[in-house]
Amino acid sequence: MRNLLTLLSLCVAVCSAYPLDGAARDKDDSMDLVQQYLENYYNLAKDVKQFFRRKDSGPVVEKIREMQKFLGLEMTGKLDSDTLEMMHKPRCGVPDVGDFSTFLGSPKWRKTHLTYRIVNYTLDLPRDAVDSAIEKALTVWEKVTPLSFSRIYEGEADIMIIFAVREHGDFFAFDGPGKALAHAYPPGPGIDGDAHFDDDEQWTKDTSGVNLFLVAAHELGHSLGLQHSTDPEALMYPVYNPLTDLTRFHLSQDDVNGIQSLYGPPQASPDDPVVPTEPVPPEPGTPAACDPALSFDAISTLRGEILFFKGRHFWRKSFRTPELEFHLISSFWPSLPSGIDAAYEVVSKDSVFIFKGNQFWAIRGNEVQAGYPRGIHTLGFPSTIRKIDAAFSDKEKKKTYFFVEDKYWRFDEKRRSMEPDFPKQIEEDFPGVYPEVDAVFESFGFYYFFNGSSQLEFDPNAKKVTHVFKSNSWLNC
Ligand SMILES: [Zn+2]
Ligand SMILES: [Zn+2]
Repeated sequence: MRNLLTLLSLCVAVCSAYPLDGAARDKDDSMDLVQQYLENYYNLAKDVKQFFRRKDSGPVVEKIREMQKFLGLEMTGKLDSDTLEMMHKPRCGVPDVGDFSTFLGSPKWRKTHLTYRIVNYTLDLPRDAVDSAIEKALTVWEKVTPLSFSRIYEGEADIMIIFAVREHGDFFAFDGPGKALAHAYPPGPGIDGDAHFDDDEQWTKDTSGVNLFLVAAHELGHSLGLQHSTDPEALMYPVYNPLTDLTRFHLSQDDVNGIQSLYGPPQASPDDPVVPTEPVPPEPGTPAACDPALSFDAISTLRGEILFFKGRHFWRKSFRTPELEFHLISSFWPSLPSGIDAAYEVVSKDSVFIFKGNQFWAIRGNEVQAGYPRGIHTLGFPSTIRKIDAAFSDKEKKKTYFFVEDKYWRFDEKRRSMEPDFPKQIEEDFPGVYPEVDAVFESFGFYYFFNGSSQLEFDPNAKKVTHVFKSNSWLNC
């Protein structure tokens, strides 16, 4: 993290300054907070300051958008009230750099047994309460990995746990009550792996102050090699959630996937029930990724990953791990149907729209948004259209393309309306694409059209098909 934490102390004066249109001094304080926040957590260059007050200053707007995207806010690029409110929330002191769930270079421990030491204590809690919060936080990760932890009382442990205020010897001074609560370093020798807690916080066993167990579980995730997650349900989401129900606390699938991408699942112990050595035969109806006849129902991007839907399942392809994940749709979005028709992502809204029959749903991360399903005719389709075959959204032009049989419609995402003069014949504007489309998505400027077990790569600039692949070419077959 030393190279990621390029930004130094957060010495923001107590800031009562919002809404923004308050007194001029408040406004300045608030601007300082924004500046500090973007410098500390989004790597805003320090010399951008002089441009900051210019409304359309490019780098700042970009950083605000980056922050909004990371934290799941609407990407307006503006300091709207949601954005300012988020910036005022207490959070982890580690920056939200990049789209990766692990640190740059994916550092991890090269051993499975680690030591920890609680070097000193906060006065907010009895010592045994601190001990048990840390123990419980380690157990969270122990349960889903082959890792185990033992406590030592002197000397250098892999994970040194300290409470400190302000400057505490590592160039990343704490900032008094609120704001940054703690920080931790990725696996490695010396200070790496260590977790530091800001003792200007009021640490508590419950959520009346800052809950030590929750923050420790998050920081220890960093100590084991995880970076921040954009999934608001994840423990590794950077902002502290005071509403977490401690009795129902559990890691999200995103946290589990992240940590298992580094260490794998827990190893079976001799006491565990016998694990079958033969692979479990797939249940009937479970699609096989490398079946040469495999076709897809729908494909969409989601926050830089690609989701391939088939029946009740989907594959999740992330560019950050070589492994492909396979899940039940219902395990992520219990209220979504199976056998969907079409799906596409609108990046600027951080939403994926899912179509089946004459209805569609909007999802953000692993949540289905309120107010759905809606009827497809609200988008402007004529009543004769009963279902959509495939769809994708061009994030540059902010247009969404809907494919129905041999025709397509184009929807203007900015005006929220269907464009006039549609439908058109698919062949007219996408020469070489089959008369019908099962699924389509955009990646690196190419459109990928799927029909049965075949896939066409289409270059929209050259307006022609540039490659033909098997449909499952994305699934590591
Ligand atoms: Zn963190
Ligand atoms: Zn520190």
